[in-house]
Amino acid sequence: MEETNHVTISELLHEGCARLADNSDSARLDAEILLEHVLKKARVTFYTRGADPVVADAGKHFLQLVEQRQHGRPVAQLIGRREFWSMPLEVTTDTLIPRPETELLVERGLVRIKPQSTASVLELGTGSGAIALAIARERSAAAITATDVSEVALKVARGNARRLNIDGICWQQGSWFEPVRESCFDIILSNPPYVATTLNGCSDAAVMHEPSIALFAGPDGLDAIRAIIGRADAHLHAGGWLLLEHANDQAKVVRSLLADLEFSSIATYRDLSGQQRVTEGCWKQATAGSAIGGEGDSYD
Ligand code: GLN
Repeated sequence: MEETNHVTISELLHEGCARLADNSDSARLDAEILLEHVLKKARVTFYTRGADPVVADAGKHFLQLVEQRQHGRPVAQLIGRREFWSMPLEVTTDTLIPRPETELLVERGLVRIKPQSTASVLELGTGSGAIALAIARERSAAAITATDVSEVALKVARGNARRLNIDGICWQQGSWFEPVRESCFDIILSNPPYVATTLNGCSDAAVMHEPSIALFAGPDGLDAIRAIIGRADAHLHAGGWLLLEHANDQAKVVRSLLADLEFSSIATYRDLSGQQRVTEGCWKQATAGSAIGGEGDSYD
C-alpha cells in the first residue's frame, strides 16, 4: 500500500494486520487497538463504518505505530494505556505493563483485607500503581502506602491516581522498605522483578521494551523476593500477611523462604492459566478465622 490518501478503515486494518501477522499472535486485535487509538473511535464501529475514508495523516500515524509494533514494542506502550482491574492506567517505558495474572495478587490481598477494613497496607515496587490503586478502589478505608525506587514511575502512578480520583495513597520513593523504615503494616504485597537474568528472551520478546529493573532479579530471579522476605518481619504486625507474585517455578522456594522465617499458613495460588503465581504467608500467628491455605495449595 503506497498511498494513504483515500484509504478506508477496512483497507488500513487489512494492511496493519498483514504487516503484523509474523510479529504478533494477536495481529488483528493489535491493528484494531492501534487504529482505535489513532482515530479515537470505538473498535466496534470499524465493522459498520469500514468503507469510511481515513485522512492521510491518521493513516500515516497508524502505519508508523504498526511499524513500531513490528519491532516488538508492546501495544500498551504505543497507546500509553492498559486496563487493569477494569481501570484504564497510563503506562510508559518507565513502568512495567500490568499483567492480567497480577489481578490474582489483588484478589488475594482483598481476601486478607476485609471490606470496611482500616488495615495498613504496603505495596512494594508499585510501578504504574496498578496494585495499590485496585486495592484502594475496593477497600477505601484501608491506609495504603506504595513505594517504588523509580521517581518517574511514581509520577506515572500519581497521575493514574489523579485521573481515577483515588486519593489517600501515600506514594514513597525508595528501594523496597527504605522509605518506610520505622513502620509496620497489616498487609504487605508486591509484584517484584522475578525474571532470571540468565533467561534469554523471557516469556515474551515485548518485555525487552519494559524497564529491566522491573523484570530482572539476579541469576535465579529471586534477588528481590529474598530481599523482601528477609526484611518483611521488621515491617509486619504479628498476624499480618505477606503476599508475593512470582514465576511458576519459584513457588516452592518462595514457600521455603517464608517457612524459614516463622511465617505460617503458607499457601500458593494459581492464576487463570494454572500457573503457581502468588504465595502468601502469615507472620507469627494466623488471624482468627483465616483458613490455612484457603482454596490454594497449602504446604504447612
Ligand atoms: N510476569 C512478567 C513476565 O514474565 C514478569 C513480571 C515481573 O518480573 N514481576 O513477563
